[in-house]
Order: sequence, then structure tokens, then C-alpha cells
Amino acid sequence: MAEVRFELRVGDSVIEATLQLPSEPIRPIDLLPILQKFDDGFIATAVGDGAVSCRAGCGACCRQAVPISETEALNLARLIEAMPEERKARVLERFAKAVEELDRAGMRERLQPETLKEKDLQRKMALDYFALGVACPFLEDESCSIHTDRPLSCREYLVTSPAVNCAAPSAETIQMVRLPGKFSEILYRFGDGRGNQATRWIPLPFLLEYAAGHSAEDQPKVPGPEMFRNFLQQLAE
Ligand code: SF4
Repeated sequence: MAEVRFELRVGDSVIEATLQLPSEPIRPIDLLPILQKFDDGFIATAVGDGAVSCRAGCGACCRQAVPISETEALNLARLIEAMPEERKARVLERFAKAVEELDRAGMRERLQPETLKEKDLQRKMALDYFALGVACPFLEDESCSIHTDRPLSCREYLVTSPAVNCAAPSAETIQMVRLPGKFSEILYRFGDGRGNQATRWIPLPFLLEYAAGHSAEDQPKVPGPEMFRNFLQQLAE
């Protein structure tokens, strides 16, 4: 193991931490649990107390298009695979239904990173996606059934406007929390383990298709401290 100490300024606060990371080469999926915990601390420091109106049991935002990194797709596929058979069958059924509904609405073609570079197109797609009412396959009783393992983009989606507004979102009624950095967007570039690849993400309902053609074992390996320092550097930038 290798010790990595760092200081990160977040608004008026400073995060000081020491992490133990495997010094041998690891895959991005091995770093993910550390990034999830670190992102939670980063968000808590950036947001402070009281301002966020998101509440347990409010799953309105879980009907939006959720982009996830390739690493998270592989991780969530593993999580589903490890579920007890009965639960797994229910989750797989919801994935199949979500993919079918999105395909029927022609969303697959619109959910490509390259087609979403234009802000106007992105906004229109987001509203059309929400209007379909396709719930995330992990949503159960309006709560996230994989809360501890939820994607970084879900952790980072926070609002300060009244929770009731999220049922009919618009640019005027939703006030998003603006974070000084998004771990999710950095991880989109870490399929190569170093953060040098082009942005690549997958719409959450299509994660099983990605995982069917890719394996965590095939992810490139990079020494843990180097991978984490590259991530920190991109965050600082
Ligand atoms: S993973 Fe959880 S938090 Fe994210 S959209 Fe799905 S149900 Fe909601």
C-alpha cells in the first residue's frame, strides 16, 4: 500500500486527507469505491448544511436521463449479477422494459455523447426523456434501491428549489446546486486508467448492453497512486 496525502480547496474550505492506495497496478473499477466516498465528502463540503431540498422517497429525478461512466456500468452489472435470484429477475425485467420504452421513443440515437455537445439539443433531449416517464430500473418505492452504490452523477444531482418542482422540471423552476467540480465527468475519461481518453458515457438503462460486450478484467491497469493523482489533478483543473 502507498500513502497519498493531499489538500484540496473547495470554496472557502479545505479538504485535507490521507488515503491508503494499492501501490500495485489497479483498474479504474478498483478505485471506484474510494472515489464514491471522496465524492460524498467533497459534495458535503461544497454544499454545507441545510440548503439542499432533496429528500428520501422523492424519486422524481430518477426519471431523468442519467449518464454513467463505463467503469460504473461494469460495477453496476456486477452488483446486479450478485443479487439474490428473485431480486435480480425483477431488476432485469425493469431494465428490459426501460430499454424497450426508450428504443420505441427513439431515445437511443439521441443519447450519444457526440449528439449532446450542443446545449440546446441536450436541454430538449432532457425534457423529452423526462416526459416519457421511464423510471430508473433501480428505483423502488420512489427510493434508490442501490443508494450506497449509486452513480456519481446521481450523487451530484442536488437541488435547492422545492422538491415538488422536480415533478415538472423546467429551467425556471429548478435550481441546481452548482458544484465546483464533478467527479462523474472526470471519470468519463478514465476508461484508460489515466484520464486521457475522450469523454465516454453510457445512459444508465443501457448499462447491461455495455457490460455484455466488455469486462472489468480487460480494463487497463495503472499504479493506484498514479491513477488517483491524475484524477485529483483533473479535479483541481
Ligand atoms: S441509480 Fe438510484 S439515484 Fe440514480 S437514478 Fe437510479 S434510482 Fe435514482
